Amino acid sequence: QGREVPYDPEQLRKINEHPCYSDKACHAFGRCHVPVAPKCNIQCNYCIRDFDCVNESRPGVTSRVLSPEEALDLVRKVMKEHPYVKVVGIAGPGEPLANPETFEALRLIHTEFPRLIMCISTNGLMLPESIEELAKYDVGNVTVTLNAIDPAIGEKIYSWVEYGGKKYHGREAAELLLSQQMKGIEMAVAKKMLVKINTVYIPGINDEHIPEIAKKVGEMGAFTFNVIPIIPQYKFAGITPPTPKEKREMQDRCEPYIKQMRHCARCRADAIGKLGQDVQSCVYQQMKDEKK
Ligand code: SF4
Ligand code: SF4
Repeated sequence: QGREVPYDPEQLRKINEHPCYSDKACHAFGRCHVPVAPKCNIQCNYCIRDFDCVNESRPGVTSRVLSPEEALDLVRKVMKEHPYVKVVGIAGPGEPLANPETFEALRLIHTEFPRLIMCISTNGLMLPESIEELAKYDVGNVTVTLNAIDPAIGEKIYSWVEYGGKKYHGREAAELLLSQQMKGIEMAVAKKMLVKINTVYIPGINDEHIPEIAKKVGEMGAFTFNVIPIIPQYKFAGITPPTPKEKREMQDRCEPYIKQMRHCARCRADAIGKLGQDVQSCVYQQMKDEKK
């Protein structure tokens, strides 16, 4: 299963206290997403963009957007009232690395709470150029959504990619995204970040390819692999999603290559609390009341 290199104590802490990296931690510890990143720099064919980035989240959910200062305030409050929260994550509502607010929020929060585990979720397009800054704020847990390692399949999944002020389409877009994702994953592993791979299971498009993705990222030293069934919408609205049984079978096929995450709750970009026991509605309501 994946790499055999032992993890150091700091990495073990970032595994054992992170509800998404350890299925034991998910009962004891929580995470606080700070929704500071509204923009996105690619177009996935299963995303209608009115809602949260569906690479992690349940579709049809629109999270609020906070400024980096509001995010810091939120974390202060959560730390006081929900001390079992050990992780601050940025997972949208768009692509974290396409929004400068992400880095400002990480800086503010890490400066005041240096022991909090810092986590981001990304499509990977800007991961290589972001690694240094992420490392500076001790971001130790990085999720990359990787739906194909073959651009011929990738071009069926992405309509366009915007990079360096230019929009790319078709094969060129898929090649660019893939090369950035591969470089970024390699750099993150080299920086001792714990890399989680999300792969959207899209029947008829990438299903036969998913074990190859798992094999590749296992060899690259990624920590865990999260198979996410597609929720059919936008250009993929006609696709029948995999059943829970098919999802489990896919995870079993990938298991020999890399540890499988089987307890993902597909959280909103503003989720707070333990997985499945979210408290964000009360926290945000209290913040509103306090402002009155
Ligand atoms: Fe939508 Fe996320 Fe894909 Fe951007 S990366 S298009 S927000 S699913
Ligand atoms: Fe963890 Fe899955 Fe929720 Fe992301 S969506 S925070 S991986 S449980």
